[in-house]
Amino acid sequence: SKREGRNNYSFFTKEMQISSKRNLELSHALRTALNNNELHLVYQPQISLHNQEVIGAETLLRWTHPEFGNISPAEFIPIAENNGLIIEIGEWVLRSATKQLQIWIDEGIKPFVVSVNLSAIQFRHANLPESISEILKENSLEAKYLELELTESVTAKDPHQAIEIINAINEIGVKISIDDFGTGYSNLSHLKKFKIYKLKIDQSFVQDIKDDQEDRAIVSAIINMSDALGLKTIAEGVETIEQLQYLRSQGCQEVQGYYFSKPLVAEDFISFIKKS
Ligand code: C2E
Ligand code: CA
Ligand code: CA
Ligand code: CA
Repeated sequence: SKREGRNNYSFFTKEMQISSKRNLELSHALRTALNNNELHLVYQPQISLHNQEVIGAETLLRWTHPEFGNISPAEFIPIAENNGLIIEIGEWVLRSATKQLQIWIDEGIKPFVVSVNLSAIQFRHANLPESISEILKENSLEAKYLELELTESVTAKDPHQAIEIINAINEIGVKISIDDFGTGYSNLSHLKKFKIYKLKIDQSFVQDIKDDQEDRAIVSAIINMSDALGLKTIAEGVETIEQLQYLRSQGCQEVQGYYFSKPLVAEDFISFIKKS
């Protein structure tokens, strides 16, 4: 087993070298990704369970590198956070998503809310509120059509600072939702102090709703608590009719997931809206 241990060790370091080599290459490649038009946005429909209408779209970032191919945001967002590019990329996402929505509204589409994911680093960056205001003005989009998604860990780090930033964002008229709710350091007493508009039930609780009694209980508890706090609830990762039925029976207001649609490029998103 000593021998095994050693083999594991050398295997492990080789893996680490490969992954850090890839990280370095991706970090480098990311610097030119924006200028080379390698980034684009996709939009996933969010459906109201009251009337089955599309009431929103979550903006998700995509990177296609000419050599490395499609790289998941789960892989490159942490790299962008490490090398600082997340600020520039995050602003590009905000600018592109708001511009796209204003184009749709100008074309006569019934307005809906676009939500944009915010990284922790972007959230703490000094001029986030100013930059949001500017971007809205640039695209002459009303603030009420923009929603920002934060994870619990983002708000947990320095709750007092988080409250100030959230207040500043609320003052602009932009809504804030808590992403991946239930997976982070849920500090329910802080939740009460944040001016939050919506909780997004993490997809890990939705996945096994059909068979897992505990997940059912958790989902139901989140919806009830959210209701009691006057918040909206959306469930993500909804893939099956059984999941949908349970969520509806518990009073969940909105859903998002492959059952309705995967994230779509702008053109396909509009086709989806027109036929739904
Ligand atoms: P997230 O914000 O929790 O986004 C939900 C993820 O679940 C997305 O993965 C989405 O494509 C996927 N998804 C949607 N419906 C279903 C479903 O029914 N089943 C399953 N299994 N998955 C579903 P994606 O697009 O790969 O994004 C991964 C993560 O990367 C996001 O998780 C978010 O944390 C981050 N991310 C994506 N775009 C951005 C961005 O513009 N800025 C920042 N800061 N982070 C982003
Ligand atoms: Ca999200
Ligand atoms: Ca999520
Ligand atoms: Ca997530």
